[in-house]
Amino acid sequence: MFSQDLLAWHDRNARDLPWRGERDPYRIWISEIMLQQTTTQTVKGYYERFLAAFPTVEALADAPEQAVLKLWEGLGYYSRARNMHRAAKRVARELGGRLPDTAEGLRALPGVGEYTAGAVASMAYGRRELAMDGNLVRVLARLTAESGCVGEAAVKRRLRAAGAALIDADRPGDFNQAMMGLGRLVCLPGRPKCEACPVAAHCAAHARGLAGQLPVMPPKAAKRTERRGVALVFRGGRVLVRRRPAGGLLGGLWEFPNFPDATDEASLAECLEELGVSVGAGRRAGAASHVFTHLVWKMEGWIFAANALPEAEDLRAVDAAGLAALPMPTAMRCFRGAAERELAGRPASP
Ligand code: SF4
Repeated sequence: MFSQDLLAWHDRNARDLPWRGERDPYRIWISEIMLQQTTTQTVKGYYERFLAAFPTVEALADAPEQAVLKLWEGLGYYSRARNMHRAAKRVARELGGRLPDTAEGLRALPGVGEYTAGAVASMAYGRRELAMDGNLVRVLARLTAESGCVGEAAVKRRLRAAGAALIDADRPGDFNQAMMGLGRLVCLPGRPKCEACPVAAHCAAHARGLAGQLPVMPPKAAKRTERRGVALVFRGGRVLVRRRPAGGLLGGLWEFPNFPDATDEASLAECLEELGVSVGAGRRAGAASHVFTHLVWKMEGWIFAANALPEAEDLRAVDAAGLAALPMPTAMRCFRGAAERELAGRPASP
């Protein structure tokens, strides 16, 4: 039987992860949100630190957003953290501190999609729900030799129905984790290790010699490249930072002022002037690239000295300790290092 073969393999091979065997819905929810788009290895350290700071849904609900974003710093996809914070407030204040115990109830929370709802409902509450991440889609498409494109709604419905027929009634959470593990370790994209697969006997793609050709993926959207100038503006042991608008890309995080296409000294100085900041001659602070899902930033940094720095809610000058305390996106890491050296009186060589 499929689920017996799968779960026997899972029981032999399951890795010892901090959230493995966890039954607390809050902790499972945190791990599942963190694991979206992020590797297990990266999540491990964040998971422990986050739960040490916010051990309960009430603690998370009561925390300031900046504290939540600071602990998320470097994990990327920051809307996950902001949505999770909003969801925690709702759970703590409207639902008596208890996460909903059905996939449908979980889906009503901010930032909880079909995958997370299925994962939490199955792992925390033993509900017979699928957690359809990319691994499950790939494994199910191969098990059923699905020849349609997995980006199509009708194909997704077929795969979901196939998964629902296979899911183990007694151990649905372990079933989902086993399928994900199979996709991550054996049924790999492009080069499945069918010879080592515990469910090869149940696999239609393997039987027909199609495993390497499936699943049929939708075409990838091309990434847009944006050139940006980044301004490190100093005055009296402080550097200018601004907060990005809530809601958009990297919303709520702090950054050094940066502007599209203003990658030379004169254009950047002009942009700063529009912010009310007058600067003298600049010097280079290095270059860096950052790749988002659909976008690449190619950044040129410049260091300036200003006669005065403005103070507003979303635009302020901070010293080294203030800079260290602010949540900043990974995209700014290289320039943050340059700013720290400058504030410490150790400017980078030009
Ligand atoms: Fe994937 Fe091959 Fe196993 Fe089929 S037999 S599930 S294609 S690894």
